[in-house]
This record gives sequence, C-alpha cells and structure tokens, in this order.
Amino acid sequence: MHRLWDNIMPLREVVLFLTFFVSWSMCYKTPRHFPRTQTDQYTFEGLTSPELIQRSAGLEDRSFFIVINDVHADLWFKTGSDPNQRCVNGTGTAGVFGEHVCDTPFYALDAALQATAKAFPNPDFMLYLGDAPPHNWDPHGPILMDDKDVIDSIDRVIGSLTVAYPETVPVFPILGNHDTYPEECLPLKGKARTDWLGRVGDCYKRCSGMSDDSVATFKEYGWYTESLNDSTTLVVMNTVYYDMMNVYVMLGGCSDRTAPDQWTWLEDQFLAARAEGKKVLLALHRPVGYYSNKIEYDFCPHDSHLLENLLVEYSDVVPVSFAGHTHRDEWRIIRDELGAPSHSIIISPGATGYTLTNPGIRLVEWNPSTGEIIGWTQLYWDIDLSNKYDYLDLRVGYRAAEEYGLLNVNATVMADVSQDLVDDDRAFSSFYSHLYVENVEPESWTRSDRAFALCSIQHVDEAGYNKCLEELDS
Ligand SMILES: [Zn+2]
Repeated sequence: MHRLWDNIMPLREVVLFLTFFVSWSMCYKTPRHFPRTQTDQYTFEGLTSPELIQRSAGLEDRSFFIVINDVHADLWFKTGSDPNQRCVNGTGTAGVFGEHVCDTPFYALDAALQATAKAFPNPDFMLYLGDAPPHNWDPHGPILMDDKDVIDSIDRVIGSLTVAYPETVPVFPILGNHDTYPEECLPLKGKARTDWLGRVGDCYKRCSGMSDDSVATFKEYGWYTESLNDSTTLVVMNTVYYDMMNVYVMLGGCSDRTAPDQWTWLEDQFLAARAEGKKVLLALHRPVGYYSNKIEYDFCPHDSHLLENLLVEYSDVVPVSFAGHTHRDEWRIIRDELGAPSHSIIISPGATGYTLTNPGIRLVEWNPSTGEIIGWTQLYWDIDLSNKYDYLDLRVGYRAAEEYGLLNVNATVMADVSQDLVDDDRAFSSFYSHLYVENVEPESWTRSDRAFALCSIQHVDEAGYNKCLEELDS
C-alpha cells in the first residue's frame, strides 16, 4: 500500500503541474485577447468575440449593408517606425495596428474586415466610398508616391474588400479625391481623364457589384448606376470634378465647364427612378457644406448649389445619401428655400486613424423592400488598446437608433436630432465623442468646437451657416 502511494504521488504531481500549467497559460492568454471583464458585456465595452459584437449591434433579423470609406491603407507601413514620420521608416514605436497620426496598415484593415465578416456574415452589399491610398503625398512626407503606387494601393484595397466576403456579397466602389494622380488631380476632359479612370476601372472591375456596363461607364466618366433590387437604385457620383483642390478645377476657378455634365445624368437617374416607383441610394465621396472643425469648404459653390437643388427637387426619390471624406462621424442637412429639411447626407468617418480618430466600419440598417434607411451601427477598433493587447479590438461604438432615438435617417428626423444636440450639452458631448470615433474625451469640447460642429451638420448654405455660428459662438 505504501509502495503504491509512492508510485502514485509523482503521477499526482504531474497532474497538478499540468493543471497549473494549463490554468496559467489560459490566464496568460485571456488578458491578451479578451482584455475586458465579463461585466463589460452589458456596457458594450471591449466586446471582442463575434457573437458579443453582433448582439450589441442589435441587428438580429435586420437587413443591413456595410459602408467603408477613406481606408487610406499604407503599403509602406512598418511596425516599429516613427509615428511622426508616417510610420514607414522602420525606427520607432509604431504598433502593429497603426497609430493615430499614421494611415492604416493592411494587417489591421484585413483583421478588421475578417472580424466584421465573422460577426456580420450576411450584409446585402458593401458600399466602398473611396480613398484607398495613404497620405504619403505630402511633400514633407517620407515617400512620394508615383502613379503606379496609387494604382497599386487602389488594387490592394479592392483586393482586401473583395475577399472579405464571398462574391455573392456585391461590392460597389466609388472614386475619392485620393484615388487620382497626383492627389486631388483628375483631368476634367480628354484622353488624360479616361486613361486614369480606365486604370482605376480595371481595379474596380473585380468588384462583384459592377456590371460590365457600369465598369465601362466608370472608365469614361467616373460615375455609374446599378439596380440593387426592385425598390432601390444605387447611383454613384464622381465628386472629384468639383474638388476645389483639384488643380484642373483650380485652374478654372471652379468655372471650367468642360467636365462631363454629371447634373443632367444625375437628374435622368432620379427621373427614371421616380417613373419606376423606386428610391435612389446616392453615394458620393466628398459631401457639400463646411467642415465640422473649421470654417472651410472645398466643394465648388456653383456645383454645390446645383446638387443641393436636385436633392431638394427629388427628395421624394432620394431622401438620403452617403458620403465620406471628412474622417468624421457626422451628417449634413440639405434644406429647401424656406429652410425646411429635405435631404440628409450621412457621413461615415472612415477606416484610418490618420486624423486623430479611431478607424471604423459602418453597418447601415435598411428596409430593402422600400429602400428606407433606418439607421446605422458604428464599429471601430481602438488603435491604442489593439496595440497594447496585440489583438484587433473591434467594438460597437453606438447604434444610432438607440443613441439618437431614430426610426429612420430622413432629413426631418436628422434635423430634430441636430436640434436636440443644440439643446442638450450632455447629448452633444456624446456626439462629440462619436465625431472623433471615441478618440476624444466626450466633454473636452470648447464653445467654438460645438458651434462649428453643430452649424456644419445643420446648414450647408453660407447664410444659414453664418447665422448659426453667430447664435452658437457669440
Ligand atoms: Zn477624401
């Protein structure tokens, strides 16, 4: 008996050791990959598993599509580089998931897309609102991209987007001001224009949402349209023709009319949709109106008015559009001549942290039978925490339906939400945090920050914007 116990003891010690080792290794790994405590499940903080993200998004049994924009993915990003030198030089502290002053590493973009696809495997489609290349153009930056680098960047981003989901999930791309060479410089006319659009179109033709006709139209003009279903048509604009930073636009002082006539084409799409009893989902890269952090706009004013007039006139057909470019989570209200809200431009913040935001991907809830846009859920990854825990920390920022009490995102509703933000400083603080994708302290705003943001989302016209500023910033 004694001898038997002697024989068992080593075995027991081995079992104890193994138990300890397994427990230790689990304890070690748990905080690396799931840094939050279980109670955080109920506050929607740090939800890193697909099921928990899905649950907190509140999208069960709802139709939704994905909006991703301003990806600015950086082919040259090197982990361990200097963030003040765009994270490309190989010497410094840049984390594997990026830095707030650098563009997005492909590793982070792909990890975010994979996490999104795991949590939300059945989107109706993906809308990609443009701007693939990084901000390395800056003459003071470490890398000066050439035309091939720009096309490579676009091609790689389209590759990441098109493999994230099966081909049965259509991807619809649109042209951003960075998807040109040089940056913001798309020729308005002639072979130079179609040569460039042709090269971009060759990248886009891998997107399963685009028919051959759409690719051909894009290669000529940079715009196209696709029927999403019996109720809704997608209309994709090219706003680079009205970009005040586009040197070809600048040379003509915004009055060069040699760009293709997008306004007639757009009205034709709206008329066709109205005749068929369909809604239009309009996608554009650069929104009209003022930036939400400064008194500045860069959409040619004459063209901005033409677009606003069309959106008011056809607000029954096209009540809502989607834009990116500003890298902020915001919107614009387009009003008729009496000041009544007629159209809302919903702006998603993008997938780069370059402008001191966290990068994100958006899920838009809609009713595919009517084309009505119901709301959105903002996903994002916290760059600092992702780097710290070596795990892409994909989270639900908020769900607009709950955050703003929305039933849809039409202009009258968004105007009411905007007014609530004017009236309630606590609500504005929450909005302010979302504006920078949860990378600012909610109550860190100044009176001017508040005025710029609220006047920008409520008024795109100069008179309305200035009057608003007088009221809120005096
Ligand atoms: Zn842009």
